[in-house]
Amino acid sequence: MLIVDKIPQAIQEMNALRHPRRIVGLVPTMGALHEGHLSLVRAARLNCDVVAASVFVNPAQFGAAEDFDHYPRNLEADAALLEKEGVALLFTADPGEMYPEGYATFVGQEEMASRLCGGSRPKHFRGVLTVVLKLFNIFRPNVAYFGQKDAQQVVMIKRMVSDLNLAVDVRTMPIIREPDGLAMSSRNVYLSSQDRRDAARLYRALCAGREALAAGEKDPGRLVETMRQVLGGGEIDYVEAVDPRTLLTPERVRDRILLTLAVRYPGARLIDNMCLNSDGTETLC
Ligand code: AMP
Repeated sequence: MLIVDKIPQAIQEMNALRHPRRIVGLVPTMGALHEGHLSLVRAARLNCDVVAASVFVNPAQFGAAEDFDHYPRNLEADAALLEKEGVALLFTADPGEMYPEGYATFVGQEEMASRLCGGSRPKHFRGVLTVVLKLFNIFRPNVAYFGQKDAQQVVMIKRMVSDLNLAVDVRTMPIIREPDGLAMSSRNVYLSSQDRRDAARLYRALCAGREALAAGEKDPGRLVETMRQVLGGGEIDYVEAVDPRTLLTPERVRDRILLTLAVRYPGARLIDNMCLNSDGTETLC
């Protein structure tokens, strides 16, 4: 596996790996890799001829009071895992490589950027879309893999790809969970043991929402109420039932619905979601 930390070098190496009959897959991450990330890499390896991955803790998507400085970093272990999974090229860069002095251009999206996680993280999605577009331009992948775990992110990336006519196929992969249902996240290590126990309620709340939907509840407000009753132990940032295309709350559940929530614990803010068909079966954004 090649490891590169400069953009021109990444472009050059990708040009050498690219071939008309080779499908190039990209897996963007912020590192501190776990089975969730590796599931994306494995899907990419299965479906693509060449797989590139990036490990970049993107300062543009962190607010001033957020955990950029404390975000877990373990490049050596990440590189070993990616190499074992058959990744051809790992890109890892300093913030200054991606945002050199004088950097001025950001990708914005109206409406959706202020919904859900955007409510408490106002510049987060501007940072996410900007870095993802930069990575798409550097790697020019045919396919890019993202997790359902960050549902709003993948919905907004798909919107960007469609709106800006980008030639990349964005694929959403299912959420990988711990045995008690907690969605795997690099930030889980920052939970106290009590909060770690409470955090299993996030998944239980989503399951309660799913069961209510399957039993015929089509009122988004009631689904939210059902989920809220199961949560406890952390400070709720939001609990919503939204249309996965628009991220707006529909009057009634007609086809797909995204049950989504964010809860703040002293050590970490956690997010989780379930995208469901109207009969309660699971699907992906
Ligand atoms: P991150 O390093 O947190 O930016 O995540 C990189 C990619 O991995 C994103 O597309 C995430 O949605 C995805 N991801 C993170 N956690 C999980 C998980 N538990 N299951 C599936 N995908 C995940």
